[in-house]
Amino acid sequence: MSPAGPEHRPDGPVVPGTGWPDDEATAGTPVARDPAAVRALASGAGNLTELVARQSVCRACPRLVEWREQVAVEKRRSFQSQPYWGRPVPGWGAAHPRVLIVGLAPAAHGGNRTGRIFTGDRSGDALFASLWRCGLASQPTSIAAGDGQRLTAVRMAAAVRCAPPGNKPSVAERDACAPWLAAEIASISPDLRVIVCLGHFAWQALWWQLQAGGAAVPVPRPAFGHGAEALLGVPGQSGELRQPGEPRQPGIGPQAASRQLLVLGCYHPSQQNTFTGRVTDAMLDAVFLRASEHAGL
Ligand code: SF4
Repeated sequence: MSPAGPEHRPDGPVVPGTGWPDDEATAGTPVARDPAAVRALASGAGNLTELVARQSVCRACPRLVEWREQVAVEKRRSFQSQPYWGRPVPGWGAAHPRVLIVGLAPAAHGGNRTGRIFTGDRSGDALFASLWRCGLASQPTSIAAGDGQRLTAVRMAAAVRCAPPGNKPSVAERDACAPWLAAEIASISPDLRVIVCLGHFAWQALWWQLQAGGAAVPVPRPAFGHGAEALLGVPGQSGELRQPGEPRQPGIGPQAASRQLLVLGCYHPSQQNTFTGRVTDAMLDAVFLRASEHAGL
């Protein structure tokens, strides 16, 4: 199902509030135009819906804004007749998840086209099929926003919300985008029990996020691998949003730990990894069954 319609420009990014399925933004949603504004708008969002809306209109990284919008105009030949989302791809899934799946960034012709994370590319095909086999998704496929797909107590987000050229965001772009994920984790933290990191980049990006939220992050940080596990003590309240170097607020920290969060490593189900057998359906299922078990699903 394609969300095409007369209100969607066929040759550029979707205008906020024009009816794209799951688009929470409107013409009045504030737009972050630099990293400082990302920090302010992420920490100031009143709820998850508002946060998602703000994520989806962000313009803080000039290189990524130019790339995502250029791709949305030029398109891949096989998708020429479809409108492209062409905006940051926000977190998606359950509002009170027990499991959060974190990836690197949307694909240029996947999430950047469909507006839903991991939707419309081969990686997403493998991921959603596994979630469905494990009882965590309502359908084995995720084709487009508005296709009826629903996740069970699971949410997905990217460490970097805009499709980067060559799938390689810069360090500055990663850092600029970090407050969006930090705020999202803080918002869902009361229910969260497991975070699954798809790939090494997501694994690395996550540790600062968790430390900022007051989790007792191990030193040295655990090495990434498929099936790697780290069990962390986390505060019994919503995480705070701190920047590197800022002091931790009283009551937030290892000493306040009241429950445990399981961080799981998972090889990214990229086309290269699945074709070469580096990651198989059985390997993906093993990770998500472990996540489901720890989360009590
Ligand atoms: S990568 Fe993140 S911070 Fe940069 S423009 Fe996209 S949403 Fe904004």
